[in-house]
Amino acid sequence: MKEKTGKAQRVENPRQAKDENAKEKALEASYRRWDTEAFSALVKKAYVRYENCRLCPRNCGVNRCKGEKGFCRTKDQAIVSSSGPHFGEEDPLVGKRGSGTVFFANCQLRCVFCQNYTIAHEGQGRLVEDETLARMMLSLQREGCHNINLVTPTHVVPNILSAVEKARVKGLTVPICYNTSSYEEAETLQMLSGVVDLYLADMKWMDEEQAAVYAEKEPSDYPEKAKQAITEMYQQVGPLVTDDEGIAQRGLMLRHLVMPNKVAGTKSFVQWVANNLSPDVYVNIMGQYRPAHKATDYEAIARKITHQEFEEAVQMAREAGLVNLDERSISQFQAFHRRLFR
Ligand code: SF4
Repeated sequence: MKEKTGKAQRVENPRQAKDENAKEKALEASYRRWDTEAFSALVKKAYVRYENCRLCPRNCGVNRCKGEKGFCRTKDQAIVSSSGPHFGEEDPLVGKRGSGTVFFANCQLRCVFCQNYTIAHEGQGRLVEDETLARMMLSLQREGCHNINLVTPTHVVPNILSAVEKARVKGLTVPICYNTSSYEEAETLQMLSGVVDLYLADMKWMDEEQAAVYAEKEPSDYPEKAKQAITEMYQQVGPLVTDDEGIAQRGLMLRHLVMPNKVAGTKSFVQWVANNLSPDVYVNIMGQYRPAHKATDYEAIARKITHQEFEEAVQMAREAGLVNLDERSISQFQAFHRRLFR
């Protein structure tokens, strides 16, 4: 059948249309699939956790609903430092229109070399109601962002769930990305199962002693907690899945910041990923360490990494068999050093 213009009319192939619907459905943000009552029950259950807060491994046991504060210095309302499209994240998150980032103030890990210490340590930001957080998410989506990227979210998980509950009934459809230091309780992450589709997770140190030195109040359980947390994330969302344009829809993305003098334990990290998750997990080996905040007080980390240290880290990852490294990040570091030493 022809259209009057003489142009061939697109005839739907029913099987192809069915396939496309199935694909679209498979890529739909998971939180869209909940029924209203079940989601509401999830939010209530999460808020109860504020009454005796053990959301993270700091295990404070304070009642945040009564205004008590634990290590994260946050009551039962989120503090947001800023929100907007962000183009500095990994390519599958940024795409053409940016990752819709919400930076939460305060952090329950607090590294001595933190590059955002005014936000993460000093809590710069403004208190927001869950309703406002929901509006921020919708506004980021309207601006065209490919996802909602929640940075340092651990201590405000109940607020996040409540905001997603409100935003989804008003038309939020883009995936939620949980961007974390990985100092997490697996039990808290379980509340995010079927809500968060993308995990962007750091692995900072593989050694307990290093973790105890380089974050406040000696969190020597960091490596163990982070490994448990990352395993939970991988069980929930699996490997990275992108759409036809390479935009992340679902899956685990790992980050590992190479530190001077092997402080981060890169070799042990890449081997752990290959042996315990899968060699094709997306891993970004990052070379942008610089001694910020109090890092210059610590001799081993008081400088940037060398070109050789970075090359060795990448080599370790390849030797461990990892096949889904962020190649752009690697080539950017190499190009920068070539320019520097030309
Ligand atoms: S989220 Fe905050 S109050 Fe709760 S356990 Fe962690 S640091 Fe303590």
